[in-house]
Parts: sequence; C-alpha cells; structure tokens
Amino acid sequence: MSIQVTNVVKTYGEQRALNDVSFSISSGEVVGFLGPNGAGKSTMMKIITCYLTKTSGEVSVCGYDVEEDPLEVKRRVGYLPENNPLYLDMYVKEFLTFIAGINKTPKARVAEMIEITGLGPEQHKKIKQLSKGYRQRVGLAQAIIHDPEVLILDEPTTGLDPNQLVEIRGLIKSLGKEKTVMLSTHIMQEVEMLCDRVIIINKGRILTDQPVEKLRQATQSKAVLVRFTGTVNTSAIRKLPGVLRVKKTEKGLLVESEKDLDLSGVLFKYAVDNKLSIEESRPYELGLEEVFRTLTANT
Ligand code: ADP
Ligand code: MG
Repeated sequence: MSIQVTNVVKTYGEQRALNDVSFSISSGEVVGFLGPNGAGKSTMMKIITCYLTKTSGEVSVCGYDVEEDPLEVKRRVGYLPENNPLYLDMYVKEFLTFIAGINKTPKARVAEMIEITGLGPEQHKKIKQLSKGYRQRVGLAQAIIHDPEVLILDEPTTGLDPNQLVEIRGLIKSLGKEKTVMLSTHIMQEVEMLCDRVIIINKGRILTDQPVEKLRQATQSKAVLVRFTGTVNTSAIRKLPGVLRVKKTEKGLLVESEKDLDLSGVLFKYAVDNKLSIEESRPYELGLEEVFRTLTANT
C-alpha cells in the first residue's frame, strides 16, 4: 500500500478540519481528492507529507509511519504544495540545483528534470519572470527530482489559463504512468480526465471513495427531465414513490429517482390525477459534476 490513512482527526483550535478520515491508495493508482474550498484537502496532504501533525489517527506512506519515520516518508514522497511557493529570485536551473543539493540527488538529475518538464527554453530565467504554467513545471520538477514513488499534488492546475491547463494536465498524466499520484482539485472534470479513482471530501469527512468509472455508471439513467402544462406542486412530486430529488431548471423539472427506477409511470399518473398533461419527458443523464455538487450541497 502506498498511502494508508486510518481514522485521522485534525483540529485547529475548536475546528475539526479532518473528522475520522480513512482511505488507502495502492501503488500505481492515480487518485483525485475532490472537494470544495475548506473541505480539508490541503490539511490531509500536509499530514501525509509530514508538514503538519495530526491530532489523532494513523498515516503511513510505503509502510513508513509519518511521525516515526518522517525521513523515510519524505524520501518516497514528492509534494507540490498549494500555491506552489518558490524562491522567485532564483534562476530555474539554480533553484533545481539547490533542491537537488537538499535531497542529495546527483546534479545530473537537474538537466533530466528540465528535459522532462519542458523547461529547457526557460531554464536561465528567474522564476519570477515565468508564467504561472511554467512556475507549475518548476514546482513539478522539484517534486520529482528525487524520483519519489508517490506524488502529492495540491491543486496543481488552479489559476492556469486554458492552454497551460492542457499542458500541465498532460505532464501529470505522463507522471501518473510511473508513480502513485494523489491530486487535489475542486474540478470533477479534471478527475475524470486524469484519475482512476475519486475520493470526495467535504467538511472534513469522506463522502465517496470509488473508481471514476463506477461513479459514472451510478449516475446514468437515474433522472427524468419533465415539463408539465400548467403549474405543478414540486413538493407533491418530491413525495411520489421512488423520487429522490426534484429540481426546477430552465428546461423543466429535473426528477431524480432513488435507484434505477423508471419514473415515467409515476409522473404520468401524477399528471392525470392533477388534470395536467406532460409536454415533454425524457431521460436525463446526470453529469459527474452535478453529482459532486449534489453530494456536497446536502452534507
Ligand atoms: P481545502 O484545502 O480543502 O480548501 P484546508 O485543508 O485548507 O481545506 O482547510 C480545512 C479547514 O481548516 C478550513 O475550514 C480552514 O479554514 C481550516 N484551516 C486550515 N488551516 C488552518 C490553520 N492553520 N488554522 C486554522 N484553521 C485552518
Ligand atoms: Mg487547499
């Protein structure tokens, strides 16, 4: 197991930023750690990377406990912190040479990192002269310079423009072929693009932990978009058998079913009973983004 997190609690004063969090990540997996702002993503990642101590619970990386063997953990973990703090006055190559020194990594790795992350043309610039996208490449280069087995990337694409986004995602995708990756984001689409599995966290608690494919399947054909003539009583529809949720949208009423139930019969009966007719009714596929919003809105 690459990362093992068991019953972790982290409190900041009165506040529980992590509330009994458990999950594990196997070697080679690429896992999306998804949650809105303030969910506890960065806190969890800082604990895994030994930058913060937990209040209680157990965390180990490649079998090493983060508190008993922090040096062994750090040797195996590459970390791109949130907001990617860098020494802005250093030159790219100088900075990476400095990091190689700290990690006792052969200097030859610097040129290799510059090659892998596509920093060649920028290597003689100061970090502060670089665009956000190139700064992220420097951040990734410093994270992988000691060739760690595990990569922890905290919102690696936040603040990038669309072109930079594509490039950095491409780089992460290729790194994911060789390493165990845990990346945090608040964008479901990014998880779909890059990850095998998604762990959704909100308010310090894990809401979902499953393969992206399985979550996608679970979201299919579970809703109907229906338009009635005349006014409908939304709360009456909510109480119909098999109905999980009802939402008013511009295109009509979005009615979600509890399981894979076909709701058209129940809705038709409702229309007849209330002397309404149905203008349009069609199956509606909930996107993963929608599932994420629903999950995090109701907790
Ligand atoms: P995320 O990365 O998902 O946005 P964080 O882990 O940064 O979430 O924060 C989780 C919660 O803990 C938030 O409510 C945040 O305000 C709080 N928090 C984070 N760091 C500190 C700190 N150093 N002191 C007090 N509260 C903090
Ligand atoms: Mg964060």
